Amino acid sequence: MINPQIISHSEDMVKGWEGCLSVPGIRGLVPRYRVVEVEYINREGQLKRQEFTDFVARIFQHEYDHLEGIVFLDRVGSTQDLMTEDEYQKQILNQLSTGV
Ligand SMILES: [Zn+2]
Repeated sequence: MINPQIISHSEDMVKGWEGCLSVPGIRGLVPRYRVVEVEYINREGQLKRQEFTDFVARIFQHEYDHLEGIVFLDRVGSTQDLMTEDEYQKQILNQLSTGV
């Protein structure tokens, strides 16, 4: 994707856990738009327009922020929404695997 732009987005935002190679050892609960409509130039020089939802929309917004000099820490609403990678592995992944 070359020169991506967010053309429009849903009203609703969803919080989800994110990590980042630029911020090692920390996970954060980050609010993102559930749906984004984006425009970009592909490798063939063609203008493309696409809609992304849920997980892919989250990834797009995370990577798009990097182009703007923003990391997920800038989007976390509270320090209570941060945890170490160790705690994340113990608490969150354990919850997901046991369904509790
Ligand atoms: Zn990142």
